[in-house]
Amino acid sequence: MLESKLRHLNRQLREGELETQLEMEKVQKEKEKEIKSLSEQHEVDKTRLLSEFSGEKVKMASKHEEEIEAIKKSKAELKKQLDQENSAKLCQICFDQPRSCILIPCLHLVYCNECVNKHRGQNESNAKCPACNTLITGQLSCKLHL
Ligand SMILES: [Zn+2]
Ligand SMILES: [Zn+2]
Repeated sequence: MLESKLRHLNRQLREGELETQLEMEKVQKEKEKEIKSLSEQHEVDKTRLLSEFSGEKVKMASKHEEEIEAIKKSKAELKKQLDQENSAKLCQICFDQPRSCILIPCLHLVYCNECVNKHRGQNESNAKCPACNTLITGQLSCKLHL
């Protein structure tokens, strides 16, 4: 009688152990599943963040390029203006000396004294203003200060 009770208790104990083991395995599996899904989520987040970041980088780089283009453009425009201003000051024959001679009577201020002297020397009393073809009767030295 006592022996059969002991066997019964032993069986209960084994079944209990088995149940506990099964329970533990179940919990472990669930935890593993949870960890797996968390790490998958983490991968997704990482990929999303990386792609967002590289998109931002591309955006920034193209903005940077636009700015550089704009600067290049305004630099070229400034250079053009400067060239125009410089050529406005220069003698239109030698493009070396500043304009320094007013022709009489047409009053053109387009050439330097040196070039006008040379031009008048070559043509004597028949020298004409190269700009308007008026006969030159005299010349006036001036100092261009722009
Ligand atoms: Zn000249
Ligand atoms: Zn003239």
